[in-house]
Amino acid sequence: MKYINDIDIAHKKVFIRCDFNVPMDENGNITDDNRIKQALPTIEYAIDNKSKIILSSHLGRPKGVKNKKYSLLPVAKRLSTLLNKKVLFAEDCIGQNSAEMINNLKDGDVLLLENLRFYKGEEENSQEFATKLLKFFDIYINDAFGVCHRKHASVYALPKMSKIVAAGFLLKTELDYFSKILESEEKPFVAVIGGAKISGKINCLTNLLNKADKVIIGGAQAFTFLKALGYSVGKSLVEDELMDTAKQIMNKAKKRGIKFYLPVDFVCSKEIEDDINCKTFTYQEIPDNMMGLDIGRASSILFSEALKDAKLIVWNGPMGVFEINSFFNGTKEMAKSIGETRALSVVGGGDTADAVKKANESENMSYISTGGGASLELLEGKQLPAIEVLEEKG
Ligand code: AMP
Repeated sequence: MKYINDIDIAHKKVFIRCDFNVPMDENGNITDDNRIKQALPTIEYAIDNKSKIILSSHLGRPKGVKNKKYSLLPVAKRLSTLLNKKVLFAEDCIGQNSAEMINNLKDGDVLLLENLRFYKGEEENSQEFATKLLKFFDIYINDAFGVCHRKHASVYALPKMSKIVAAGFLLKTELDYFSKILESEEKPFVAVIGGAKISGKINCLTNLLNKADKVIIGGAQAFTFLKALGYSVGKSLVEDELMDTAKQIMNKAKKRGIKFYLPVDFVCSKEIEDDINCKTFTYQEIPDNMMGLDIGRASSILFSEALKDAKLIVWNGPMGVFEINSFFNGTKEMAKSIGETRALSVVGGGDTADAVKKANESENMSYISTGGGASLELLEGKQLPAIEVLEEKG
C-alpha cells in the first residue's frame, strides 16, 4: 500500500477523503474537533508540497437529501482556523460549480466539498456518483479511517477507478497502532470489552481470545455472562439467546488459560436516569426489580489490579451508562487505571473515545482511534474493504 509521501503530488489536483464526521450541537457548533485535528498532518503535507487540495467527507446521516443541518460549512471554518489559512467551500460535492472552483485552485489552495451523503450514490457505492467525483482530480488519497469498513463510493468505487491512489498519515497511524496491538508478542495483553450488547462484540471477543492473556468484561454484556453462570441479574440488559455463546466464550477462555474477569458488583437503579438513590450490590445480590447500570467500586479495584502488569491493552466499550453521571464512575476508573499503566494502550473510537474524553484521560492513552466501527472490525480480524482497495492498487 502506498502512502501520500510515496508519490509526487506537486502541482497536482489531490482529492483527500477525510472523516470530518464531527459532533455538533443544535446550533451547528462543533463540540469536538478531534477528527479535524487528526486530518491536519496529511492536509498540511499536501499544502507544503504545493498540491491543489480537494477535501471531502460525510457528516451525519442526511440519507441522500440536501439538508443544511448536515452541512460541512462549519468544518470549513474550523479547518481554516486550525490551518491558519483560507479554506474554500463548495456548496455541492459534484456539479459544474464545484468543477469551476476546482479548476481555479492554485498550488497550496484548499477546498472542501459539501457533504458526500447529500447524494444516495455515496452510501450505495454508485459507480455513476464516483465517476462524477473522478473528473475532479489527478490523485486520490484516503485518510478517512472511520469509514474504511464501509463499501461507500468515495472510499470503495472511487479509488478502484482512480489511476493513482494512496493513504494519508492518519490512516497510517491507525493501522500502525492496530497492527502493534494485534501482532506484538508483548505480554500480558489485556482486552477490556464493555458496552451494551455481546451481540455486537462476539466476533471481537472470539478473535481476541486467540491473543489475549486477560479479558475484562464490563458494561451490560457482563449480565449475559453472569446469567449464563446461573446468577440472577434483576432487570439488567441481557441477551438470553446468547447465553450459550457466552458459555462457549468462557469455556474457550478457560481452555486457553486466559484470565477472564467479570465485574463483582454493580451500581443498580430502577430507571436509567441520574438517580441519587442508586445503590451498589454484589453480583450475587442484584434485586429483582433493579438494573445494573455501572460496575461498582470493588470491580474497579479488581480490574485495576488485573491491569497493573499489562504491556498491551485494547479497550472497546464503556463499563456502564457513562453518559449519565450516576453511572459514569466505573468507566472513569477504568480510564484512570489504564492511564496509570506503562502499557501500550489503544482505545476504540466512538463511545469509548467519548468516555475517555469525559474522564479527562485522553492524554494518558497511547492512542485513541477515530473509528468506532472500523476499529472494531480490525479487532475482529477482518480486512477493511477500503484498505483492501488501497492495497490492490498499491
Ligand atoms: P457499545 O456501542 O456496544 O460499545 O455500547 C455503548 C453503550 O453501552 C453506551 O451508550 C452505554 O450507555 C451502554 N451501556 C454500558 N453499560 C450498560 C448497562 N449496564 N446497561 C445498559 N447500557 C449500558
